[in-house]
Amino acid sequence: MMRGGQSGEQRRIPMAAAPLFHLVDPNGIDRALLDDLCALTTRVRTLAKHPDGARFLLGLLPDRRAMLYFVQPSTRTFLSFSNACHILGIRTSEIRDASTSSEVKGESFEDSIRTFSSYVDVIVMRTPEAGQAARAAALMNRIPRPVPIINAGSGRDHHPTPALLDIYTLERSFEDRGGIDGKVIGMMGDLRRGRTVRSLCHLLQNYRGVRLVFIAPPQYAMGDDVKAHLRNSGIPWVDDARLADVIGDLDALYVTRMQTEWDTDGDATRIDYADYGVGPANVGHLKPDAVIMHPLPRGPEIHPSIDDDPRAMYWRQERNGMWMRVAILLKIFQADRFVHEVDLDALTRN
Ligand code: ASP
Repeated sequence: MMRGGQSGEQRRIPMAAAPLFHLVDPNGIDRALLDDLCALTTRVRTLAKHPDGARFLLGLLPDRRAMLYFVQPSTRTFLSFSNACHILGIRTSEIRDASTSSEVKGESFEDSIRTFSSYVDVIVMRTPEAGQAARAAALMNRIPRPVPIINAGSGRDHHPTPALLDIYTLERSFEDRGGIDGKVIGMMGDLRRGRTVRSLCHLLQNYRGVRLVFIAPPQYAMGDDVKAHLRNSGIPWVDDARLADVIGDLDALYVTRMQTEWDTDGDATRIDYADYGVGPANVGHLKPDAVIMHPLPRGPEIHPSIDDDPRAMYWRQERNGMWMRVAILLKIFQADRFVHEVDLDALTRN
């Protein structure tokens, strides 16, 4: 394994962050870990662009196996985790439909998870029910051979890995403007049921002087649990904002779709996107250096013509997600030090 060497590049060495085992919710993720993961993500991106760098990454974890247990629809999270594993040489197995697992024979969730853990070194899981990743992690903490659990979306409660890639995207977007500290971030759409914005609100407590502006139909306003958390963390927010009134004040506008899969009455399909969408009619009111983000998939809330606007960050955000997931796996398997230590200049010189 290629290691060591001094890099001639100018870079900020992150503060030593605590090791990471389970990644279940955004609580407990501190600034040191965020800075470390962001620095790792940038080094992984740089390495992967060069054939020797890509081979170096491929040689880091070829002895590890991952289980991708996704029993709720997923495109981005599944594919980006799968590809993140392959970038590091990790072999993967998957269940994408609960009807193909022994759960249909009545096997308990706990027994299924314990079975997966017998074969692999990490379980990445998405379930329609809230709290399942936490249940799996609690089980792992009780058994003799625990493996890390990564929450890839648990019902409507949390989705910590998009929140991490959002932090990375925001930090990159504002790198010449002091990073995330002091920024005004608008969150728009279905904030009550959108798990990415909920997780992102928790992570933003790590930044100084951030202000949040919530723009949501009243029935989809941000949940009281998240507001209580913001209150405890001293993060100010504005509720019930009208996009037209605040659009010019925002440094970032994080747009989300209506989470219609949770509807019982089709209510969310009757939203007026003139109030909760971005398109040619209102994008001109955004600051010239603001960024537009979206966890994807999108609905009518972002007009496709916005894709060509230099402020649109959602496709970059999506790609950042794969690199951030590589960083998370490196951190969990404590292979991050090899990436931090490798001489990037020497490795990518030719
Ligand atoms: N892909 C994200 C999620 O799984 C966002 C969304 O679906 O709206 O939560």
